[in-house]
Amino acid sequence: MDKEKIERYRKLGLKMTPQRLAILEYLEGNTSHPSAEDIFRHVEEKFPSMSFATVYNTLEALKEKGLIIELNIEPGKKRFDPNIEPHHHMICEKCHRIFDVFEDFSVDLPPKYAQKFKVKRSQVVFYGLCSRCAEESK
Ligand SMILES: [Zn+2]
Ligand SMILES: [Zn+2]
Repeated sequence: MDKEKIERYRKLGLKMTPQRLAILEYLEGNTSHPSAEDIFRHVEEKFPSMSFATVYNTLEALKEKGLIIELNIEPGKKRFDPNIEPHHHMICEKCHRIFDVFEDFSVDLPPKYAQKFKVKRSQVVFYGLCSRCAEESK
């Protein structure tokens, strides 16, 4: 990771340890929406002494700074998205891969609800089968 980026994270008040850097590097441009366990397994290869708590705390810190988004799409398993641009998701119910949908379409709350609720953001999750799993289950 280049110095500029590291500096930017520092300025945000994130303590930059080699472990944290490895986590950030893994997340950068990652479109697989990894869980904390996935991230831990990956970074552990490089830092065998790293604890799961380090991964967890780093993710919490990044979330707090608005650098990653926590997805609660899969029951019982938080997934993380380094892409903070507003987008929607599709999740395959068989292989649990999560895909991005960058198409811009709006979902409007019917007026009777909108009167009593100020919408700040919304996200649509599509549940189904990815093309690979659909092919396999033929
Ligand atoms: Zn699938
Ligand atoms: Zn995403």
